[in-house]
Amino acid sequence: MPRANNTQARTVAAVFSGVRHFKPHEFNAPERMDHDFLMRLDAARSVAGIPFVVSHVRQFRPGDDGDHGQGTGVDIRCHDSRSRYIILTAALAVGFNRIGVYNRHIHVGSSPVLAPNVVWVGKSQ
Ligand SMILES: [Zn+2]
Repeated sequence: MPRANNTQARTVAAVFSGVRHFKPHEFNAPERMDHDFLMRLDAARSVAGIPFVVSHVRQFRPGDDGDHGQGTGVDIRCHDSRSRYIILTAALAVGFNRIGVYNRHIHVGSSPVLAPNVVWVGKSQ
C-alpha cells in the first residue's frame, strides 16, 4: 500500500517539520503528536542543553483524555536532581503549563482543554 504509506509519511513529516532535537521513531504514534507541542518541546530541549529522553512507559494511547492522548504531552526521563532542575526550568521558560514531577520522569504538557498552570507530583510506573 505505497499510497497509504506515502500519506502517513507526509503527515509525520509535517508534524515534525522544523523539529530539530526529536525524531518520529522516539514516539509510539508520531502522526498523533501536536506540531506546536513538539516545537515547544524542541525549544525546551534547546534551552536545557541536555538530552531529553522521551519515556516509552506512557505515550499516546487511544481513549486517553490526558495530554498523552491529545499529543500534547510527553514524559521525559529524569533520574537526578540536577537534571530535574534543568528540565523544569527549561519547561517553564518556554511556557509549558502542565507539569508533573515524578521520581523517574517529568511530564510536560500543553493541552488547550485541560487545566493550565498546574504542577503535580507522582510516582513513575
Ligand atoms: Zn505523562
